[in-house]
Amino acid sequence: MRKLGIIKDPRLTHLWRPYTQMKTEANPYTAVETRGAQIKLLDGRWLIDGISSWWTACHGYNHKHIIDAMHNQLDIMPHVMFGGLTHEPALKLSSRLASILPGKKSSKALTHIFFSDSGSVAIEVALKMATQYWLNLGEPNRNRFVCFKNAYHGDTIGAMSVCDPDDGMHAIFKGAIPEQIITEIPNSIKKFKEFEKLLEVNGRNIAGLIIEPLVQAAGGLKFHDTEILSNIYNICVRHNILFIADEIATGFGRTGSMFACDQADITPDIMCLGKALTGGTIGMAATAANAKVFSAFLSNEENKAFMHGPTFMANPLAATAANASLDLFENNQRLEQVKTIEDDLLVDLELCRDVPSVVDVRVKGAIGVVEIKEPIDIHWLRHRFTKENVWVRPFDNVIYLMPPFIINKGELKTLTKAVLTVIKEWALRTA
Ligand SMILES: *Cc1c(COP(=O)(O)O)cnc(C)c1O
Repeated sequence: MRKLGIIKDPRLTHLWRPYTQMKTEANPYTAVETRGAQIKLLDGRWLIDGISSWWTACHGYNHKHIIDAMHNQLDIMPHVMFGGLTHEPALKLSSRLASILPGKKSSKALTHIFFSDSGSVAIEVALKMATQYWLNLGEPNRNRFVCFKNAYHGDTIGAMSVCDPDDGMHAIFKGAIPEQIITEIPNSIKKFKEFEKLLEVNGRNIAGLIIEPLVQAAGGLKFHDTEILSNIYNICVRHNILFIADEIATGFGRTGSMFACDQADITPDIMCLGKALTGGTIGMAATAANAKVFSAFLSNEENKAFMHGPTFMANPLAATAANASLDLFENNQRLEQVKTIEDDLLVDLELCRDVPSVVDVRVKGAIGVVEIKEPIDIHWLRHRFTKENVWVRPFDNVIYLMPPFIINKGELKTLTKAVLTVIKEWALRTA
């Protein structure tokens, strides 16, 4: 039976899909083509993408400038190892990133870039870097991390340890992963006092603090404001705790500025990038460090060097795509586009607030969130959205939009209208 783009293919047996209960969950839709802000399914329908393929495709799909650059690079050198060798795409990318990351030109600038192939690995690199920083300084007990409820930093063991402890994705691994110091993001004078106390008490064991600045993404799309972020940062500075910003989701314009840290005017010691780094074309991630962190690894002792090196790190094809993506940020009004999306989301999603099952509507940059009362039937909702010809995938109790920045007004309207239509229907079903 052909049903809404879901086509049974016997080869599906061999695909083990992400976050999927393979016994009960419906088959996936088959995508056959992408263009601009849209994804084409095997049955011929084009869906407007409200998620930018897990927040990566910031310039939309198949952007000619990126594709052309990649074609060129593909012919010359798709890959070469990074041990003992370097190449123009990586040299160019590292210096360009250093020149735009928070703190640019100051003594705190994030001037040293370590490349890897996925966000989770960039996080592992950051945690390992912070741990070895203290080892190299002769403080071996500083090996734990302060992190937050509702946080999401990836799926590998180290990254999981700094995620929300109760989140369904990771709660089952309790006991199997390192124990960290997990607390709430403080949001009052009293809570800040408690927070600072926590850092004081544990100070000698803490290597660093890790946070998704301004927007906690996959852990529930919770926002906090710039003042909270800068207060947390200042407390870390006071207690000599390395501040690690995970901008894998927020980086490259998503929250309205190039990086979320820019809005709070803070410069982390270590920053992780991924997702939109290559404009959503190919996997790549980076961990950037300031001179303070970097210099702790400089020594006449070999074993003080940073002992890490993913096989495909700084892949030339990916670095070329990332350079082309940076060109697009330089030569287009991407942040203005984000502002326009923000304005439209603010107006159009506000209409959802009156629907009985809605508990909150919030918008930051090109991120729009409608939070609904639990329990929700995620599979019904996801399926229902495709009938509106949009690709929107709610998780937990949030329906969110993070569209490509190049989306046009009509397409965005279709997305916000679909959200309103579907949650109204959901409210009727649950009334
Ligand atoms: C997606 C994400 C990660 C993990 O990145 P992967 O490329 O999926 O490994 C880490 N941190 C944040 C904030 C993310 O959004």
